[in-house]
This record gives sequence, structure tokens and C-alpha cells, in this order.
Amino acid sequence: MNPSNNHIGKVILAGAGPGDPELLTIKTLRWLQRADVVIVDRLVSPDILRYYTRPDAEIISVGKQNKSEASTSQSGINSLLVEHARAGRLVVRLKGGDVSIFSNVLDELQTLVRHQIPYELVPGITAALGAAAYAGIPLTAREHATAVRFLTGYRPDEIEETYWKELAQTADTLVFYMSSDPLDILVGHLVKHGIAEDRWVAVVEQATTPLQRVTAYPVRDYLAAAAGAQYASPTLIIIGKVAALHADFQWLPDSAGDATYFPSLLKSTVIC
Ligand code: SAH
Repeated sequence: MNPSNNHIGKVILAGAGPGDPELLTIKTLRWLQRADVVIVDRLVSPDILRYYTRPDAEIISVGKQNKSEASTSQSGINSLLVEHARAGRLVVRLKGGDVSIFSNVLDELQTLVRHQIPYELVPGITAALGAAAYAGIPLTAREHATAVRFLTGYRPDEIEETYWKELAQTADTLVFYMSSDPLDILVGHLVKHGIAEDRWVAVVEQATTPLQRVTAYPVRDYLAAAAGAQYASPTLIIIGKVAALHADFQWLPDSAGDATYFPSLLKSTVIC
């Protein structure tokens, strides 16, 4: 009997939240407790795997360090999903943060549909929301911002000059993922296009983990104060009037050391 013909498994595409294991949803927790196989990205707390998966579950780490150096290619990940589901297993594909924000979920969805494998999507707390809460920065605070944008400045050269101008002049809060390496370039563009004096930049390293550290400056002072700074991975950037609120509402003490929370870190941009 070929199990692939008679008993097809299922894939749960789920977000694990940004770091703190308690930010996992109950729904994802329940799927993890049942999963036969967990295929996991790098930016997922090791404690989630340690405490919330079955002792006999197969854990497959497919974390990527950067674009060129994937430990498992996207096509390799797609094949793993198909192989295990075809063998009749319950597979949880666990991604850092939310399942769809700056992720390759589309490739995985297309693969599952192509192979007629049943699936569900379970959202997770994205890094922007985790970092904002744990840094005491309400992203759309009254009289500060009426909208928030999730962006990446990962390839700053690909952003048009007119768009930089718009970003410099908007009252929206800007949250940049995968952008700590080009941060000086980003800030340079915003300053050049006249970003207002009351706009701040908050750099949130290792958000929601015990190693979180937040540094905040008025955007116009950033380059004088911190050009060339190296940040731990992962790091999220929040820009806007709201970023100044960190000074008033910080509740989590900054970590002092240089330790890293997620396994095998490179000090560079991370894509999941
Ligand atoms: N799907 C994820 C984002 C993947 S892109 C989510 O919804 O959060 C990876 C980028 O997310 C990192 O380069 C970083 O900018 C951000 N990120 C993820 N986890 C983070 C954390 N704990 N602290 C700070 N930034 C984080």
C-alpha cells in the first residue's frame, strides 16, 4: 500500500511570534502539540520547540542566514512539505513572527495547491507588533500617527527618490524589517528629503527576548550619533513621532551584553 495515495497528511503554515515563546497563539500551540513533523525557520525561539512539540516529533531546521546562504533552499523546503504530507504526516511549517509578513509563504502555498495537499494558515504576532509593545511604542498613538506601514529598506537602491520623499514627509509610522545594515543609507535619504525634527528612530534589537535592546534618537541626529553602528540580528527599525514615546514608556530593561538569542547568528540582515 502506498500511503501517499490513501492517507494524505496536512500542512499547517503557522507564525511563532517574534521571540518570547509566550507570544505563541493557542492555536499554533495546539497544532505543535499534535505535529509529527515541524519544519522551522531560524527566528523561532528554541524554547517553543523544546517545550511545545511532541518528544517524538521530527524537527527540521531550515533557517536561512541571508539571501545567498540558505541552509535549505526554498525548493528544498517545498519538497520537504510535499514529502512529509504525502507520507500522511501532520506537518507544522513554523515561521518567525507572522506567517505572511516578509516571508516566502506564497511559494509554499503554490506548492501545496499544486500537489493538492490540505493546509491551514495560522497568523502570528509579527515583529513590528512585538517590538512596539515590548519597547513601549504605541504605533498609532493618538496625535502621533494615524497609520503604520510595514516596509523593508533591504535594497535601498531600488526605492525611487519620489518614494523617499513621500516617506520623509508622511505622518505615518514607518516600520522597517531587514533594514539594520542599510540603516545609515535609509536615514540619509529621509534627512535629505526634510524629515521633521520631531520624528525619531528606534532601533529594536532582538525584540521580545531577554536580550532586547532599544536605542532611540531624533532621526536628524542619528548619523552624528550612531553612523556605522552594528546591531544584533534580528533588528527592527521604527521611525516616526511615536518612536520618541519609548523614553516615556519603556518597561523592559535593555540587555547590556552582546549575547544572541536565536541560534547561529550572523551580524547581518536576516531573511526568513
Ligand atoms: N515573518 C516575520 C518577518 C520575517 S523577515 C515577522 O512577521 O516578524 C525577518 C526580519 O524581521 C528581521 O530582519 C527583522 O527585521 C525582523 N524581526 C524578526 N524577529 C525580530 C525580533 N525578535 N526582533 C527584531 N526584529 C525582528
